[in-house]
Amino acid sequence: QVRVRFAPSPTGPLHIGGVRTALFNYLFAKKNNGIFYVRIEDTDQTRFVPGAESYIMEALEWLGIAPDETVGKNEKFGPYRQSDRKDIYQKYANQLIETGWAYYAFDTPEALDAHRKEHEEQGKTFIYNHHNREKLDTSLGLSKGETDKRIAAGEHFVIRFKTPVNETLHLQDIIRGDVKFDTNLLDDKVLFKSDGMPTYHLANIVDDHLMETTHVIRGEEWLPSLPLHHLLYRAFKWEAPEFAHLPLILKPIGNGKLSKRDGDKLGFPVFPLEWKTEEGISSGYREKGFFPEAVVNFLALLGWNDGTEQELFSLTELVEKFDLNRVHKAGAKFDPEKNKWFNHQYLIQQNDADLAKAFTPILEEKGFSTPIDLTTKIVSLIKERAHFVTEFWELSDFFFQAPANYDEKARKNWKEETPQLMSNLISVLENIEDFTAATIELTVKEWLTQNEIGMGKVMQPFRLSLVGALKGPHLFDIAEIIGKEETITRIQKAIA
Ligand code: GLU
Repeated sequence: QVRVRFAPSPTGPLHIGGVRTALFNYLFAKKNNGIFYVRIEDTDQTRFVPGAESYIMEALEWLGIAPDETVGKNEKFGPYRQSDRKDIYQKYANQLIETGWAYYAFDTPEALDAHRKEHEEQGKTFIYNHHNREKLDTSLGLSKGETDKRIAAGEHFVIRFKTPVNETLHLQDIIRGDVKFDTNLLDDKVLFKSDGMPTYHLANIVDDHLMETTHVIRGEEWLPSLPLHHLLYRAFKWEAPEFAHLPLILKPIGNGKLSKRDGDKLGFPVFPLEWKTEEGISSGYREKGFFPEAVVNFLALLGWNDGTEQELFSLTELVEKFDLNRVHKAGAKFDPEKNKWFNHQYLIQQNDADLAKAFTPILEEKGFSTPIDLTTKIVSLIKERAHFVTEFWELSDFFFQAPANYDEKARKNWKEETPQLMSNLISVLENIEDFTAATIELTVKEWLTQNEIGMGKVMQPFRLSLVGALKGPHLFDIAEIIGKEETITRIQKAIA
């Protein structure tokens, strides 16, 4: 059975790149009738941020891609939080020491710094591996007794992986194909620290194995760790899962990886949900008014397509069509305008009554308790122009209240005859019994034709009187909704 995982470190809110990784894991799992689980990788205590774990869970729930197994849910291979698995890792670190795949290193930070400096002065980079091992303070030349004594004496130590020398690893990545690594360039990564905590590398491999992970789907930034991870599987004599490294998400403008700063600059969120810290609030897709389905849809297309021109996919359709072999190698440009377009597409698909319900709290906040039928009608007239429900108010405020001022440019275009024409229009409107859009339109147009008055001469000031600007839906629809009395009052006010 396919088992894939999303393994975030709770170091802050989930970035949009992380969400895309979670989504691709979810899609791959569901496509293969497998299991999608979430494991919390919190072994680096210095980077732990309170609230991040629950944020991640809430975000996945909101997006509709909640895991089948995670902390507190179907913990088949639990616990699913690494800090609750501490004891497990110690045993595996010891195993690697015993089999000669790892060793103790007692170097102090100062000693390591000195080595680094010395190399720099000679124009070389310092790699902690076979190039330097004899000069460093490791257990490799010590007897077991000596090593044990130093540990018992409370000396600071780490356990490092003993990278094999002179090997070229040919590794397979589902997206990238054959990737080559020279083991001489790898450093002997720290696997375990004297604080009793494993590092990411050890914990990640041990857990992927124990939790029976079949495929590791993760961001490209982890590709450099692939050789170490493969060697760890070799060291443990475990079968390695298959790997797929997803392309980077790139800045909308310029080069490089999308960052929070790009979002701040161009006014779009890079987080699924709002994130509050003492420094301020970072906006989230949810709070900005994005539909989760739209977010899922546009994220799915960051690095993947189904080979056709289709852009709108429901989650079910994505599950059906998703294929890791169709994920691109090249980075995917993030396009905030396109994201808004997706949201618009989902917005116009919603039924008007539901949109009206979503709009109601905004109206109430503005002080209007409008009957839901009327709100529904108004929504149906404006939704084509909106990307978000949060834009409804500015697109429809004139339905609820008379304009406080008029677009200056449009007002300047008024001719000398305009006030007179408007007062004639008032008389025409006064005589309409059935004040519906169709009848108003018919009557006004008849009056214009009979008196040979140009449409523009009347319609523009008429619109300006009702709306305050030359925008908005069909004018006669607006007149019907605000009613005869209000229509006339607004024209009177405009020419007063
Ligand atoms: N904990 C790692 C992260 O924060 C997981 C990387 C992986 O999927 O192996 O992204």
